[in-house]
Amino acid sequence: MNRPRRALLLAWVLALGVAGLWGMAGHAASPEPRREPWPPPPVERGAWVVQPPEGYEPNPDEPPVWLPPAYPNPWAPSSHDHFLFGRIYPPGIEDIPLPSYRFAARNDRGGIHGGIDIPAPEGTPVLAIGSGRVVWTGEGLLAGHPRAGDPYGLAVAIRHDLGWQGWTLYTIYAHMSAIWVKSGQWVAQGTPIGAVGETGHADGPHVHLEIRYSDQGPRPPAGLPFLNPELWIAPPMGWGVLVGQVLNDRDLPIDYHPLTLEPLDWSRDIYPLWQWRHKLETHTYARKPGITPDPYYQENFAINNLPAGRYKITMTWNEKTYEAVLRVWPGRVTFFKFTPQDGFVVQEP
Ligand SMILES: [Zn+2]
Repeated sequence: MNRPRRALLLAWVLALGVAGLWGMAGHAASPEPRREPWPPPPVERGAWVVQPPEGYEPNPDEPPVWLPPAYPNPWAPSSHDHFLFGRIYPPGIEDIPLPSYRFAARNDRGGIHGGIDIPAPEGTPVLAIGSGRVVWTGEGLLAGHPRAGDPYGLAVAIRHDLGWQGWTLYTIYAHMSAIWVKSGQWVAQGTPIGAVGETGHADGPHVHLEIRYSDQGPRPPAGLPFLNPELWIAPPMGWGVLVGQVLNDRDLPIDYHPLTLEPLDWSRDIYPLWQWRHKLETHTYARKPGITPDPYYQENFAINNLPAGRYKITMTWNEKTYEAVLRVWPGRVTFFKFTPQDGFVVQEP
């Protein structure tokens, strides 16, 4: 993106932020604050997929930054949203969760995935996604005491300064190859806390990231229920989040069921993520105690990091294939409900 456009974008984001703060404070407006269109108009085709100019040759010492920066966070495009956290890797490193093994996926061992997996080269610095107190470092997080051979491997847990509606929030970073912080230490958002590795039960270098909450004040994090990090990490600027309730004919969540998403407004060929060369194959949540849907959205499907634009969503249920075109808006949640009677319907939860 060239500089004037970046400046324009910054101005737009600032204006929006100021308008939002003004609205929240509930002041009688004098003078009238400038109103921004909301929802904002859709972005141009492909405008937000950063791509190198023709003939560009990357400098091996300075990897290109292709992903837009995250929205300034906490990012709260509606009073129901709580994108309190920022990016886990430094700029220039892809930090997109593995789509095939998302939050609440079922694994081979009969367990349910309580977090997201974010692959990166071994040794990549891992950043605290929000400020807070380090409450765990080392091996043994699951057991709650130092123990070799723990499935989390070398892990860090942070109790965050920011909570949500009375909840105390924790983040957990697992499988690291090194830890650079000490228990009891306070860290700012963006502090390097360790390095990407594959210690514990890991298949290739990645961070297994969890967000957990307590509604009874501080608790040891390993015993707490799980939230989907994709609803808590601010999306890249100009990108958005798709959230849904996928229900059967008795209005109950459809358990761990495949769905596909296909972008219609930008070419898949230029999408830089290695995980997504064609359609995105994903799934609804598997049910398990501890897997907690959002208090407002009550979702069993959520996916962040989608460039704004139209997507074809497809699902087969009881031998019938349903499809619809949904629009993902930049910087906010697009919510849909699926039922066999009505198919996919975009609406308020
Ligand atoms: Zn994982």
